[in-house]
Amino acid sequence: MQYNSTRGYGPLSASEAILKGLADDGGLFMPDHVPALSIPLAKLPELSYHETAYLVMKDYLDDYTEEELRDCIGKAYDSKFDTEEIAPITQAGDQYFLELFHGATIAFKDMALSLLPHLLTTAIRKNHVDKEIVILTATSGDTGKAALEGFSDVAGTRIIVFYPDGGVSRIQELQMVTTKGKNTDVVAVYGNFDDCQTGVKKIFHDAQFKKELDQAGFCFSSANSINIGRLIPQIVYYVYAYGRMIKAGAIQAGDTLDFTVPTGNFGNILAAYFAKMMGLPVGKLICASNDNKVLFDFFQTGIYDRNRPFILTSSPSMDILISSNLERLIYLSCGSDAKTNTELMRQLSESGRYEITAKMQECLKDFYGAYATGEEVLETIASVYDKYGYVIDPHTAVAAFADRKYKTEEKPSCKSVIISTASPYKFGENVLRAIDPDFCAKDDFEMADRLQTLSKRNIPNAVASIRNAEILHKQKCGVNEMHDMVQKCLFGS
Ligand SMILES: *Cc1c(COP(=O)(O)O)cnc(C)c1O
Repeated sequence: MQYNSTRGYGPLSASEAILKGLADDGGLFMPDHVPALSIPLAKLPELSYHETAYLVMKDYLDDYTEEELRDCIGKAYDSKFDTEEIAPITQAGDQYFLELFHGATIAFKDMALSLLPHLLTTAIRKNHVDKEIVILTATSGDTGKAALEGFSDVAGTRIIVFYPDGGVSRIQELQMVTTKGKNTDVVAVYGNFDDCQTGVKKIFHDAQFKKELDQAGFCFSSANSINIGRLIPQIVYYVYAYGRMIKAGAIQAGDTLDFTVPTGNFGNILAAYFAKMMGLPVGKLICASNDNKVLFDFFQTGIYDRNRPFILTSSPSMDILISSNLERLIYLSCGSDAKTNTELMRQLSESGRYEITAKMQECLKDFYGAYATGEEVLETIASVYDKYGYVIDPHTAVAAFADRKYKTEEKPSCKSVIISTASPYKFGENVLRAIDPDFCAKDDFEMADRLQTLSKRNIPNAVASIRNAEILHKQKCGVNEMHDMVQKCLFGS
């Protein structure tokens, strides 16, 4: 398997592409073909998460030996997860929720970021890299902590995380600023997530800075969802979910299944599309957005336009106007033509807008766009709780609302699975606003106690452990000071 950039650079092996993160030409790595699923559907319900992970990923990561890959998988999906199932499904009425929040930081980013550090350190060994890898990450709240958790004290790596000051939940912020690893830095940026992401991309593209770092023995990589080492592990849980649905008697092997995905940077839903291209019987992919509905508009019109106000919502991990991974879908929809894609991305960076052709739009018919307003999110959390006693977080609620809307409008003949991307404990304030509006809490931990009573699910360790933890990271910087901050973190001046 070889990997090429969506803007032409390449080819590289899997481990080389994972090391690089973002291609030198600014593009994202793509596999040169999609391998067919090597497991008969009827066998899926018997497979553990580990076994499914190995069978799904082995053809993508074919320069890793079987032993290396199984070793990485074993280390990633261990007791950091609070259930052996790793990704269980909960049914609430006629809706099925695939819970991807049982890892160390109680959000779905753990699914890929538990594995990526192991893939990366194995890649360092395989490729005889003699540099220290510097992971630069922009986060809308969840990637940051999941990456810090994954890379903390991993030999040969440093990690610097930038998050929007005031743009993440209090629990998310506390999770990050209490991180202990000696190789970790966390910085609040006076800007929004797109500012952080653009700033990081700029640093990646700074040839002069790269040279300086190279001489000092450093090289950059990315833990953001632009790294192909994030995308591939995410394909696994779609295949696994299909097996679990068979096991639960909800579908039979061969039945079509839809997935509804709360979407921000478009990484999670793109992994579902890869599962479909591999041959998993997936019908529609319902792309659920919050009030920042740039993707909904795109699927409606074929015009991507980020020129609009950035809205802070109750689902901050989806507050994104530039969905980086959409570039991979654009590339596929124009027949893997790097030139066409590069031109569209140039328009995006220059004018914030591009329009695809009708033929390209035809290639996107597997996607159905929908969005939920702030009010609809609260109503959805409240109604799922009132009817079934099940508490969902605001991101998951965006998807649950979109799923309902899709079913009402399109009346599909198959079932769907909603991707549940965060534990309600991570966004307690907005969850309680929906299910217990009269409750007054003095802080986030009192809210957690209240949620425990209402949801009848224990407070996860990720929240309990930060209750009295010391704040270790207090650095802040402006949007234009991110470069200087990286320098300061690495060189101390
Ligand atoms: C990151 C995140 C999303 C969005 O996922 P993308 O892959 O960026 O589309 C949704 N929900 C939660 C809780 C997240 O952390």
